[in-house]
Amino acid sequence: MAGLRNLVTGGAGFVGSHLVDRLMEAGEEVICLDNYFTGRKANVSRWHGHPCFELIRHDVTEPIRLEVDRIWHLACPASPVHYQHNPIKTAKTSFLGTYNMLGMARRVGARLLLASTSEVYGDPEVHPQPESYRGSVNTIGVRSCYDEGKRIAETLCFDYNRMHGVDIRVVRIFNTYGPRMLPDDGRVVSNFIVQALRGEPLTLYGDGSQTRSFCYVDDLVSGIIKLMNGGHVGPLNIGNPCEFTIYQLAELIRRKINPSLEFVFKPLPSDDPLQRQPVIDAARSLLQWEPQIPLDQGLDATIKYFREVMIR
Ligand code: NAD
Ligand code: UDP
Repeated sequence: MAGLRNLVTGGAGFVGSHLVDRLMEAGEEVICLDNYFTGRKANVSRWHGHPCFELIRHDVTEPIRLEVDRIWHLACPASPVHYQHNPIKTAKTSFLGTYNMLGMARRVGARLLLASTSEVYGDPEVHPQPESYRGSVNTIGVRSCYDEGKRIAETLCFDYNRMHGVDIRVVRIFNTYGPRMLPDDGRVVSNFIVQALRGEPLTLYGDGSQTRSFCYVDDLVSGIIKLMNGGHVGPLNIGNPCEFTIYQLAELIRRKINPSLEFVFKPLPSDDPLQRQPVIDAARSLLQWEPQIPLDQGLDATIKYFREVMIR
């Protein structure tokens, strides 16, 4: 699909910058748009000066008009620490940001892919979670700005599709990790790796029995590219169905970095989902996609990255 004009919102962030790399490597044109709240120019600096690349500082809560074919709408902080920093801004980013991008998609005839989340399932009573599960979300808790923000963003996509024929794709991303997560990101994989590399105890929230299913970023990016290029609208789960307790994750990372480290147990944050695992049958059959990189291997690559950035 050479020559397509892509807009990646949140393109200087963790997932966005990997997506930018893949689109640029495929010879496409990329406009990377970001307000640098949790993104870094350094994540896309290798493309500075490339004739197919542009970087724009912009906040998606404000309208903008750009002539593009595809909008990959990722702009939104993803770590609970960051999205709870200013929850009203997070809700605005999800609602107004998606509204503005859909309005632009409508005007210029672009296809828009929304980066939604497994958080739309809340603290799920159905396990594992298929796309048909409608979720168990607290509307008034500390995670609601993000969870409900993504739910209304999905709603907007489908209403723009029904009312105005906007071509949409909705991906529900499950916990993803890899190089370019921020050392102070606050999410569990980066926290444990950074703590272990600093020789500090690993902080387990609750008793560590809650589960997550971790997808390596390269696998995720392959999945969302397939979704964008295919004919299925979604919502579609993209994630790695191998489920781990947080305790198991801590043990694995400790073993890889420094087996003598201690664990410290801290209170479980409010509304922290107790279990999470994607059903990916739809992605397997509709996109012929499934993750290729097991946690063990993905962690090695992520640890290598953090070792490098932390000694710089
Ligand atoms: P991230 O925080 O690294 O990236 C988000 C990017 O969006 C950052 O570059 C940030 O500066 C930018 N941004 C935030 N608010 C903005 C605004 N108002 N205007 C313009 N830019 C803004 O997070 P990520 O992990 O790369 O997540 C990317 C997307 O994927 C997010 O929409 C997130 O909700 C979704 N997602 C990620 C995960 C995951 O595990 N990584 C899981 C589920 C969903
Ligand atoms: N967690 C933890 N220690 C940390 C950071 C997170 O035990 O230092 C736990 C957190 O309580 C949650 C899980 O790890 O149960 C995943 O947290 P993360 O913030 O990575 O993502 P999310 O909760 O959004 O899935």
